[in-house]
Amino acid sequence: MEYTSLYRRFRPRRFSEIRGQEHVVAALRNAVREDRVLHAYLLSGPRGTGKTTAARVLAKALNCTDVVDGEPCGTCESCVSIDAGTSFDLHELDAASNNKVDDMRDLLARVALGTPGRTKVYLLDEVHMLTAGAENALLKTLEEPPDHVIFVLATTEPHKVVETIRSRSQHLELNLLTAVELESLVRDVVAEAGLDVDEEGITHAVRAGRGSARDALSALDRVVAGGITDDETSTDELLAALAERDPGRALAALAAGIARGREPRVTGEALLGALREAFLVAMGVPPTQLPAADRDRAERFAEMVTPAVT
Ligand SMILES: [Zn+2]
Repeated sequence: MEYTSLYRRFRPRRFSEIRGQEHVVAALRNAVREDRVLHAYLLSGPRGTGKTTAARVLAKALNCTDVVDGEPCGTCESCVSIDAGTSFDLHELDAASNNKVDDMRDLLARVALGTPGRTKVYLLDEVHMLTAGAENALLKTLEEPPDHVIFVLATTEPHKVVETIRSRSQHLELNLLTAVELESLVRDVVAEAGLDVDEEGITHAVRAGRGSARDALSALDRVVAGGITDDETSTDELLAALAERDPGRALAALAAGIARGREPRVTGEALLGALREAFLVAMGVPPTQLPAADRDRAERFAEMVTPAVT
């Protein structure tokens, strides 16, 4: 049997199943309920927080034959085909690999055509990757979209989306999940899927997720497949080396990471992330997505390097 990743298997199929993004879910669901859905939404947020999932649920709600209180039924022909990725009412395009003006013209030429359901939803992922020519072509359509068409533009970098496109769409921001939300997601998936995962495995998945549902469930996949790969050792060692001003220990930690196949860039990014966490903890504003284990580490490091206040 083909293995389906936990992230795909437990991808939310209704607005109420999307976690930690209440403001976004409420905006979209209310718009469906009150029949005042706009022609363009810009969904921004870190990777793995549910941008395309929200767009798919919206597409279902807009084509479902049995919408109840703004939620798609999940069982009608339209809902089933959107879940299966076979619906003609939802067109997904990765703007990163289709970023040329000709790609956009091809897409927009079809916009005027009809669609089997009530509403055709175009989901353009990584929309900030479009070239200037493609952006201009899209802009023209956003200015006068056909009635039955809705654009959902998704991006991890909203500041790179031109102002003219941003101003023609409602901008909804998804955020990283808090450690508490992520842990409850991981625990629910473990229980529902009947996985044999211990507390250490759950903690590992939450830490690896760093606020991203997709990253946490990918880490859980790896825990299930073969146990835990300890990605944190070199970061812990580097922090200790910094605190003790010990260059030899730092170089040894870096070398150990490389020996385990960890790219120096990844180690560097993890170190910067840990330093930022320590700084925020020292300032009394720990990030909400920080799990207890990372918070403890940040506190220990902050204590070691911060001059005592007398
Ligand atoms: Zn339905």
